[in-house]
Formats: sequence, structure tokens, C-alpha cells
Amino acid sequence: MSKRKRFIAGATCPSCGEQDTIVVFVEQNVEKVKCVKCDYLQSQAPGEVSGSTRQFEQLIGVFNPDDK
Ligand SMILES: [Zn+2]
Repeated sequence: MSKRKRFIAGATCPSCGEQDTIVVFVEQNVEKVKCVKCDYLQSQAPGEVSGSTRQFEQLIGVFNPDDK
């Protein structure tokens, strides 16, 4: 019943440009990326879930040099 939601640190919303508002969660076996600020929503196709998200995290990692 519980939905796992996690924020992506340092992620910038492509819609409103706010930082640290991007959450990733799984709904009905579909991984979704959502901005809690402006309700920007991006759904991943079931077969591409982990790959796409991993790519997304790596992409935002580039813009988060403070991470390490
Ligand atoms: Zn947004």
C-alpha cells in the first residue's frame, strides 16, 4: 500500500526550474518523476524504468558537484 517516494537531491525541475522538488515514485509498476512544486509529471514506460531513471539521476548528477 505504501508508495515509495524519494527526492532527487540537486535535481532541477525542467518545467518550473525549482531545485530539490523532484520526487521519484512507483505507481502501478510504472516509475514516475514528479515535481512537487508545479506538478510536472513524467512517466517512464514499464520496460525502461530503471534504465531511464538511472540515466536521469546521472544527468542531474552532472549539475550537482557538491555531492562529492
Ligand atoms: Zn516544477
